[in-house]
Amino acid sequence: MRTALIGRQTLRFESPRLTGPAPRLGRVVERIDCRGRDLDLIWDDGLVLHTALRRSGTWHLYRPGDRWRRPQREVNALLEADDWVAVCFNAAEVETFRTVPIDRHPSRGRVGPDISEPDAELDLIVEDLLAYPNPAARVRDVLLDPRSLRGLGNVYAAEVMWANRLSPWARIGDLARSDVIMLVNTAARVLRSHLAAAVPTPYSREALPLEVYGRNGQMCRRCGGTVDVARSKLDGRLVYWCPECQTRMDRRLLDDTPPAGAPARDDL
Ligand SMILES: [Zn+2]
Repeated sequence: MRTALIGRQTLRFESPRLTGPAPRLGRVVERIDCRGRDLDLIWDDGLVLHTALRRSGTWHLYRPGDRWRRPQREVNALLEADDWVAVCFNAAEVETFRTVPIDRHPSRGRVGPDISEPDAELDLIVEDLLAYPNPAARVRDVLLDPRSLRGLGNVYAAEVMWANRLSPWARIGDLARSDVIMLVNTAARVLRSHLAAAVPTPYSREALPLEVYGRNGQMCRRCGGTVDVARSKLDGRLVYWCPECQTRMDRRLLDDTPPAGAPARDDL
């Protein structure tokens, strides 16, 4: 299931008796956790689908059009991504919840606009990023800070960094106002276009391709370089980028006293 689903956009989701919110189409499965007979799917925006299989439950993986080995009435959840269909039958529990229910915890302080919403005030996000309290914070980390903006997620943060040719080592305090305006507008455009493309229409249901996320070792479609990956020290999530063309604002090059030699990969 990890091979079939991780790094792929969800194009269809059905769960007849689901407790909790359904995953948004176009969101990407980032992790699958398995503990005993419990299996959790975690999307890049923090939504978790928890299935407790107990004795009778099971997940099957099919190709679209395959004949299922269990009847439709036993289906608890169905998820289609790319050319795979994962179906959960007869689970004891199927529920979803958010790992970061930040907008329900006002005590944590204010939160930024949800950038996936068409009426999100992008100007507010721009001003917030220009006044970001820690100018040395990495741009990628700032894009995931719910105090500035919500809804982007780790997958689309990587895509936005690629679209802006920004290095994973770029720091928010080094960006000019025009860079920040470009960054925020690109974030809104990339996220919304991918989410919209995943929603089926009578004519198509074709996910837009991801440029870097999940493509480590593959060729960059812009420059022909090889996409790289490292784990973020800050949040433990995977950061994908093209070292050939995502070189803007690379702090390792901007530093007055660069460290000798190339920095270690775990420097991220
Ligand atoms: Zn490239």
